[in-house]
Amino acid sequence: MQCFVCHEPTTERCACVCKAHVHKACLLLSIEARQKTDCTICKQPIQNVTQRPVRVFSRWVCVFALVLVSTIITALLASLLLLALAVDDRHDDVFYDLLVCCASSAGLATCASGFLRKLLEDHSLTKTHAVYEFV
Ligand SMILES: [Zn+2]
Ligand SMILES: [Zn+2]
Repeated sequence: MQCFVCHEPTTERCACVCKAHVHKACLLLSIEARQKTDCTICKQPIQNVTQRPVRVFSRWVCVFALVLVSTIITALLASLLLLALAVDDRHDDVFYDLLVCCASSAGLATCASGFLRKLLEDHSLTKTHAVYEFV
């Protein structure tokens, strides 16, 4: 039998009422093109295909998230380094300066991670598109 999409021979069938011969790959392509999980021939739902929503971030959101992540890492490393220096110079005048720097680096990391979480949770910045697959 022929696949009704590409007209090559196939033994695979559509899991709908008419059970038309079709390659699974061809069927998925036609479902994706129409954004519908019903059969083009009998118009009945195809049983073994599911639709899964996938969130897609736009490019600038990805870039921004990357910048935030590197800010967080740098700030955390800096605060650790400053803490180590402060412990080293415990009896020096710079001790408190180093502690303040350490605290502000840690604060920056916290702010950046909070902002990053907001950015990733903001649904207006993401698009949802449907992915179809066989179950
Ligand atoms: Zn085919
Ligand atoms: Zn059908």
